[in-house]
This record gives sequence, structure tokens and C-alpha cells, in this order.
Amino acid sequence: GELASLMNVSPTEVISVCFSLGVMVTMNQRLEADTLLLVADEFGFKIEFQDADLEVDDVEEEDTEDTLVSRAPIVTVMGHVDHGKTSLLDYVRKTNVIAGESGGITQHIGAYNVQLDNGQRISFLDTPGHEAFTAMRARGAQVTDIAIIVIAADDDVMPQTKEAISHAQAAGVPMIIAINKVDKPNANPDNIRQQLSAMNILVEEWGGNVQSQEISAKLGTNVNELLEKVLLQAEILDLKANPDRNAQGVIIEASLDKGRGYVATMLVQRGTLKIGDYLLAGKNHGKIKAMLDERGKNLTEAGPSIPITILGLDGAPTAGDKFKVYNDEGEAKTIATKREQLQRELSIRTTKHTTLEELGRRIALGEFKELNIILKGDVDGSVEALSNQLQKLSTEEISVNILHSGVGPITESDVNLATASDAIIIGFNVRAGVNAKELADKEEIEIRTYSVIYAAIDEVKAAMEGMLSAEI
Ligand code: GDP
Repeated sequence: GELASLMNVSPTEVISVCFSLGVMVTMNQRLEADTLLLVADEFGFKIEFQDADLEVDDVEEEDTEDTLVSRAPIVTVMGHVDHGKTSLLDYVRKTNVIAGESGGITQHIGAYNVQLDNGQRISFLDTPGHEAFTAMRARGAQVTDIAIIVIAADDDVMPQTKEAISHAQAAGVPMIIAINKVDKPNANPDNIRQQLSAMNILVEEWGGNVQSQEISAKLGTNVNELLEKVLLQAEILDLKANPDRNAQGVIIEASLDKGRGYVATMLVQRGTLKIGDYLLAGKNHGKIKAMLDERGKNLTEAGPSIPITILGLDGAPTAGDKFKVYNDEGEAKTIATKREQLQRELSIRTTKHTTLEELGRRIALGEFKELNIILKGDVDGSVEALSNQLQKLSTEEISVNILHSGVGPITESDVNLATASDAIIIGFNVRAGVNAKELADKEEIEIRTYSVIYAAIDEVKAAMEGMLSAEI
């Protein structure tokens, strides 16, 4: 009924078009996204879906150049397990004490901010690893400006290192390589640089443009030099925000604390957050009663790139939810309700992500320029062969990108990357684990598995030509 009135036709006409498409509907029924597109098309209309956030947010005034001031970079530390991510974060946390203050940061609140001797600041996300990074991206939140990839010099570039690099690249986040554990007698940094170059990642020492630094996270050797490289990268990125407006940002973590009620750690991205502000965060809202930094110190306000913990929300939002300050409580509450409603509706709509089956149609409509693929296989040789062959399928209209390839089963982390980057997952002689499969079902990510290389190539080729039949 609603669609009919938008198109200025009678509801019966819409119902009969649905009928001809094999969809039996009534006047008050909600249509799925695909059906909506087709029906509108029959009447010569094109549908554009807005995401729930956009729809409820009032039109954003852009910040003009003269309102922007420099802000601290926000850094995530990623890398293979045991290569020293936690040690690095701990070292930075413990040693960087703001001038005049005694004692380092004692609390874990999910993020912290440090000040270097030269007065410049860096904010670190305190949940190491690309899983958290990409899970947030899958929710539409890109918080990280720079990724530090930690690689142990007494080991090799490991599968998770490769994964972390792929995740940072897919997000377009610049990397700095920290070659760690150089204090160990068997450390061999050249071996790491060599293996990176084999992956087309050339560090500066080898004539490339990726910054790197040898460090010992355990002893603290050269950690300052690493941080200086972070600041150099930040300068290149020219990170800026307007501090002089209602605050907006992202939830890093949230929980229910016995004594204090709901506690949420967040990062301000623009504007300045103040005590007493009325806040909407995901589906939750509330007035800020208290605001603390990572040292447990009470604050009255927090500007861009500053992580803080707040008290006062009516629930625990999810990591990656966006937050925003509203001028009045009524407005925030209305939007919270509307948002909940929209999210319910959005979750009913089908196929948000790419599938091979609908690929041909979307290419034909000209709305599709890139096919992103995550490729997992049982042995290196076949992964590489398949990866090369798939990339060769690129045409002028559509480029085939292998976002990540690796040996091993399909994991939740692969599914998160696919969600964040709208990719399909191809498995060669490997399957998805139970958890990965569940997540893929929930996120509607397509996983295709093959045991013959040519079958995979043929199918992707057919899909790109719009020739893939539904029954495979
Ligand atoms: P994560 O899994 O990447 O967070 O790694 P951890 O920070 O937990 O470190 C794994 C192990 O390596 C721990 O036993 C650390 O003490 C050790 N380690 C980390 N950095 C260094 C380093 O620079 N030198 C040496 N010798 N050991 C280190």
C-alpha cells in the first residue's frame, strides 16, 4: 500500500505485479528488498535504500575547513598470536605518564591516550588483533587511522600476520611494521623484511614506502622511535576534526557495572563531549552523569580522538555503535525508538551482501564495479594458482579483487572481513567452521566451496556474465 502511494498507482496494480512475480501479498504486507526493486522497476521507478543511521540522523552539516583542528591518531595493534601485541600495548601504557602525574594507566577501558615527550598525543585501541578491528568495521564503524603490525623477528610472517595485513589493506588503513623481539639472540629481522617483500610489502629500508621499526616490546627498546613513526604517518594523513560542535563518535566497549550501572567506553570523533550532554548510542540513550579517563580521573569534557568512559546510559550499546549528542532529550528518545523500529525492518530485508547468483544482474545494471573475494585453500600452491586465475577474470567493467587469501579453514574472521568489505568467500578443499558458518548465515555472506580449480573459475566467470543458474 505504501509503495503504491509513493508511486502514485493503485495498490491492486502493485499486488498484481507481485502476483506475476510469483509473490502472493496483501495490502499491508512488507516486501523484501529484491521484490521492492523489481516491482518499482515495473512501474519505471528506481529504489534507493538508505541505511538506518542515515535515515534517522538529521542532515549532517559538514565542517568547514576553518573549523578543523589537528587531532591525535587512533592506532590499532595487530599481528600473530605471541608476537608481542599485548607486550607493546602494556609497555606504552605503563611508560607514558603525562608530565607531572604519578603512576601509569591502571585500568583497562578498551582504549587509552598517551602523550609523548614532545607533547603530541596518540590514542590506542586496547583490544589487540584484527578480529575486533574488522568486527567494528562490519558494523560500519571505522575508528582506526593507523595499524601497527607486530611481527616477531625470531619467527616468520605467520598466517595471522598475513590476515592482519589483508584486513588493514581492505580497510585502507596505513600500516607501520614493528619488527619485535630483536633482543632475542635468534632474531632475524632481515628474514621478516624478505618475507614481507615476497608479499609485495616493501619497507622503507628496502626502498619501499611502508614504515617499519625494529623494537623490543619487552625491554622497551626503540618503542619511542616506533611512536614517532606513528606521528609522522599521522602528519601525512593530516587528521583533523571540528572540536566545536555536539559530539559524535563510536562505542568501543560497554558493560553493566554492579555499583555504577551501565558503563560505556567511547571515542569522540568530532565535537566535544560534556557532562550533562544528552546522548544517543545505538539503541540506548541517557544523560552523561560522569566521565572518566583511563586513569580513573574525572573529566568535564572530551574532544576529538579522546577515549573516555561514561556513566548514564540506559543500557549497554554494542562495540561499533555510533553515538551522537542531541540538544534535547525528547529528540534523542524519538530517534532511539525510530532507530529500533528501522533496525527491525532492516533485518527483515534480504540479501544485503553480494552473491554470485545476483552478480550478473547487478553488473548488468551497472551498479557493480568490483567483485571482492576472500580465498581459503588447503595448500599454498592451489591457493596461489586459483588466486591468479580469478584475478585474470577481471574485465573493463568489473575488477576481481582477492582481498585476502590463505591456507586453512574458513574462519569467523574471514566472514567478518567479507561483511566489512562486501565480499564472497571461496573455499578450495576447505570448509567453514561451525561458528564461521553460523556467522555467515546471520550476515548473509556467501561461501562457495570447490574441489576442482576449473569448477571455481568457470562458476565465477559464468556469474560475472550473468549466466549462473540458480541451481548449483
Ligand atoms: P600477543 O599474543 O601478540 O599479545 O603476545 P604477547 O605480548 O602476549 O607476547 C608473547 C610472549 O612473547 C610473552 O611471553 C612476552 O613476554 C614475549 N615477548 C613479547 N615481546 C618480546 C620482546 O620484545 N622480546 C622478548 N624476548 N620477548 C617478548
